[in-house]
Amino acid sequence: MSEPGPTSPVPASADDGATYGVAKTALVGKSKADLEGLAVALGEKRFRGSQLAKWIYEKATTSFDHMDDLPLAFRQTLAREFALSPLTVADHRRSTDGVDKILVHNGDHQVYECVLLPYDDRVSCCISSQVGCPMGCTFCATGLGGFDRNLTTSEIVGQYLLLQALSPTRVSHVVFMGMGEPLLNLENLLSAISLLHDEVGLSHRHMTVSTVGLVPQIRELARHKLPIHLALSLHSPFDDVRNRLMPVNHKWPVAEVVAALKDYQVATGRKVTYEYLLIKEVTDTPEQAEALARLVRGNPCVVNLIPFNWVDTGQGFQRPSRDRVTAFRRVLESRGVNVVERVERGHDIAAACGQLAGQHVGRFANRRPLSVRD
Ligand code: SF4
Repeated sequence: MSEPGPTSPVPASADDGATYGVAKTALVGKSKADLEGLAVALGEKRFRGSQLAKWIYEKATTSFDHMDDLPLAFRQTLAREFALSPLTVADHRRSTDGVDKILVHNGDHQVYECVLLPYDDRVSCCISSQVGCPMGCTFCATGLGGFDRNLTTSEIVGQYLLLQALSPTRVSHVVFMGMGEPLLNLENLLSAISLLHDEVGLSHRHMTVSTVGLVPQIRELARHKLPIHLALSLHSPFDDVRNRLMPVNHKWPVAEVVAALKDYQVATGRKVTYEYLLIKEVTDTPEQAEALARLVRGNPCVVNLIPFNWVDTGQGFQRPSRDRVTAFRRVLESRGVNVVERVERGHDIAAACGQLAGQHVGRFANRRPLSVRD
């Protein structure tokens, strides 16, 4: 594979336009049973559908031409009638530290992002669940752009497969932390999780859902008892600060959402993560470090510190100094809290959520801001 330049297209997904088209129904998103039924409906044996599922989900193939154990006539019929994926690449950037960020669309003006993150011990990806986001977090580039719609199951799984096609090694971890609030799209999220588990073969334990704290949906997810890792974007233990950062806090304040998270941990047996954005003199004060330590005490959890990745949202938010980050961390650790600090990557390609899409908003999007306070 040639090394893409800063804005070169994704070779694995570009195909010839025949399979990554927009007008035809996409096969990505259909279960193996659906594909077996489709094969029979097209006059083939049922097991041909099973072979098709392997090509789509296990091999992440990008063209019907590659499916060389399927009869040519069947492949030709499929190529005529269907697309493999609904996604078309609008932009692809590779950072100097190996992160690939891809902006996709479905032939319309609505763009969304997915990111491939290779680490020493695994390859992970971050995928979107909505086009834009209605949650209106005041530190977030996506929140600035407003909301278009929920992504379909096909579009969610399609992002994973697009990134898997790009990666030379297995993409073993999926984080639902791209554009949008995944729990606002719970039905399609659960279908996507089911396909990624059942057809692609990913472990639930390697999937992370990140939420701003929608309490009823957290409790609904807990009822499924899937060992999925849940991450809460907390960002402050104080309601007045969190209200300023995240309108959702007016509806479900800190105590309520943390109680839901603790119940999720008990129901699933999984350690939860509290994402904590450090914004200079807004969320990084010693008082908040102390209050955070008290809040999560006794709960099997990790606090993930994220120094603010500067984006101008008109709030004047600033990144804290290294000394302030270290001081905050020390308070937590001295109170026995498990702390990690996010290793930031992809700075040179606008890798923070919504930044790349934000650069395309003028070209592609016409979004409407919504309020979750009502
Ligand atoms: S931080 Fe997440 S939930 Fe908040 S506006 Fe951005 S994408 Fe939406």
